Amino acid sequence: MAILIVDDNRVLRTVIQSLLENAGYTDIIQADSAEQVFEILGMDSDDKSDDRIDLILMDIILNGIDGIEACRRIKNDKRFSHIPIVIITGHITPEHIETAFKAGAIDFLTKPINRLELFARVRSILHFKSEMDRIREREQLLVKTTTELEKANVLLERLSNSDGLTGIPNWRYFDQTFKKLLASAIRLSLPLSLLMMDIDNFKLYNDTYGHLAGDDCLKLISKAIHDTIKRESDFIARYGGEEFVIVLFGIEADIAVTLAENIRKQVFALKIPHSSSPINEWVTVSLGVASCIPEPSISPKNIIDWADKALYMAKRRGKNQVIKFDDL
Ligand code: GH3
Ligand code: MG
Ligand code: MG
Repeated sequence: MAILIVDDNRVLRTVIQSLLENAGYTDIIQADSAEQVFEILGMDSDDKSDDRIDLILMDIILNGIDGIEACRRIKNDKRFSHIPIVIITGHITPEHIETAFKAGAIDFLTKPINRLELFARVRSILHFKSEMDRIREREQLLVKTTTELEKANVLLERLSNSDGLTGIPNWRYFDQTFKKLLASAIRLSLPLSLLMMDIDNFKLYNDTYGHLAGDDCLKLISKAIHDTIKRESDFIARYGGEEFVIVLFGIEADIAVTLAENIRKQVFALKIPHSSSPINEWVTVSLGVASCIPEPSISPKNIIDWADKALYMAKRRGKNQVIKFDDL
């Protein structure tokens, strides 16, 4: 608990110091000017200075910057504004008191210093300061905890919306977001397309290469498609098992079919061997496309059903192909 005594009169400084020492205060620092106070506090450096000073007793009249101005500057600096300052003044007028308090002083003492008055002031202010420090610490802890909690919530939100295996959005995310995009498409009279993609003969793939290799295959395919989706409003999600959905906002049927065809080719180009597939030597996928300019009567389930029917058709017609719902 350091007390800083500021006075340009060395004798007065020493008198106050010995009074305080007699009262049991041992950590006392002296300064003869406001400039020296700023230096001791480290006000000119950018680093957070140490919290050594608990109380400043400052004469109002100093060489150079006076006590009131010094008080104002310290109080205006966020790093030091919590340090209580007691102004010491020779003659006390209501104006003096007002300026001192306005500058941020917590109290004032008059010269000649009265021993008992000094003790009473110092004791109560130091007590007050330590209470305030405790509150400040608790506040800082609270801010830290809140920030960490917010970060954890963001992470949790992301985790609960993404698929554990592939890292892409999961069914939950699709369910929530597709609803919103459909509502926007209805409001703006914009087209909306949904592609439903299923890996062909994936059970055979697992049977041939093992479940872990199957997992790797799912990761590879989802990542390849995820990486090619550039528009903010489009996304791929894992719909379940080896089925994926791709949502294309503002995209009409013809373009959606072209994009679906690109995705089919892209998966094929990964050249993931599938020796037991009756379709091809590489892993292939089938896609069903549903596109519409939705009306208020259309629900997410309607569009999902259309895409699902189209996908079913693609399977029926020999897999490794794209079918649009209208073509059924
Ligand atoms: P089709 O061409 O008609 O789609 O046939 P399929 O074998 O792909 O379809 P089916 O529904 O018969 O089998 C899907 C397989 O996908 C069975 C299941 O074990 C596998 N599968 C689902 N989820 C996972 C997963 O997370 N990891 C692995 N490795 N396999 C999975
Ligand atoms: Mg399949
Ligand atoms: Mg399936």
